[in-house]
Amino acid sequence: MKKPVYLDYAATTPVDPAVADEMIKYLTLDGVFGNPASRSHGFGWQAEAAVESARGQVASLIHADPREIVWTSGATESDNLAIKGAVAGRDNAHIITSTIEHKAVVDTCKWLEAQGVGVTWLDPGSDGRIQPDQVFSALKPETVLVSLMLVNNELGCVTDIAVIGAELRSRGVMFHVDAAQAAGKLPIDVTAMPVDLMSLSGHKVYGPKGVGALYVRRSPDVRIEAQIHGGGHERGMRSGTLPTHQIAGMGKAFAIAEACLEDEIQHLEHLRSSFLAGLEALPGVALNGSDTCRVPGIINLSFEGVEAESLMLGLRDLAVSSGSACASATVEPSFVLRGIGLSDELAHRSLRFSVGRYTTAEEIAFASAQIVDVVTRLRAVR
Ligand SMILES: *Cc1c(COP(=O)(O)O)cnc(C)c1O
Repeated sequence: MKKPVYLDYAATTPVDPAVADEMIKYLTLDGVFGNPASRSHGFGWQAEAAVESARGQVASLIHADPREIVWTSGATESDNLAIKGAVAGRDNAHIITSTIEHKAVVDTCKWLEAQGVGVTWLDPGSDGRIQPDQVFSALKPETVLVSLMLVNNELGCVTDIAVIGAELRSRGVMFHVDAAQAAGKLPIDVTAMPVDLMSLSGHKVYGPKGVGALYVRRSPDVRIEAQIHGGGHERGMRSGTLPTHQIAGMGKAFAIAEACLEDEIQHLEHLRSSFLAGLEALPGVALNGSDTCRVPGIINLSFEGVEAESLMLGLRDLAVSSGSACASATVEPSFVLRGIGLSDELAHRSLRFSVGRYTTAEEIAFASAQIVDVVTRLRAVR
């Protein structure tokens, strides 16, 4: 059987072959397998050098200082560390976030709320965006943290981080940004964006799964409390033996993302416009989220009169997603689509298509033709 066309790059990406080649160097006896924390011999020093080189590569993509990068197991852990770590030990704390954050943020904030932390949940506009004024009017004297994502994983819309961050900085409120879907998709510069904490993931950027990073600003100095205790690794912020191969892979992936950023954006813009052009013949298709402030790779569409479940069954040759992957075990409509005001009915008629580095023009032509065909057939038998 022919493999389906992969249109779910927002769920995860395949590892770049150059990344896989790099990772293999840090596993076996003839490679650099030492513990990066071993100080007494060359095995450890070499592993440490690899980790530090990768730290520089990840820092470079977001214009950070390498000392501001803390390794984690992924963006889920980074979100938990940032939010719980910022609130820990503060009496009467209040945080502001939105209803359409990734579950790693939503569920962390819900858990804190159950512990007595005050949480303000902002509702986005129908374009999926939170406006800076909404954040500013929700601020209270006891607000310690605002957590908002840079790019939404279901809609692709982009938050105005620079404007929000500037105001929060002047008020002394910490700002956490989940940039898992933004890294490698748009330029990120923490020297121009007043962000204090930023979550990153390896596997959304053609790196391996199971590794991520949290950017923690040094100037002005941001203090968070560790959530995993042990050997005091990562300047006490996150203990545990560093997985050299994962880290080297993420570093390589981020270096490639930095070198290819402009080409990649162009490639994805081309794919997006030919995909949408291919669907023009089909009436009753609406784009969910912003069509202006967005990354090109994520295209969320609703199809009038067609259930997403039946559409997915008809589109066996395409690997796509309805709602986020983490929620796809449930039949609930996507909370993100509900969050931007879509009715249950419309949310149930939506699919997310996400394209990436290895998507070809042929695959896009095939995909849009399939969609036109299946939607037309489904509508005819209604
Ligand atoms: C994928 C994703 C995460 C979770 O990242 P993992 O590395 O899989 O834990 C968090 N936030 C956003 C926006 C994501 O897209």
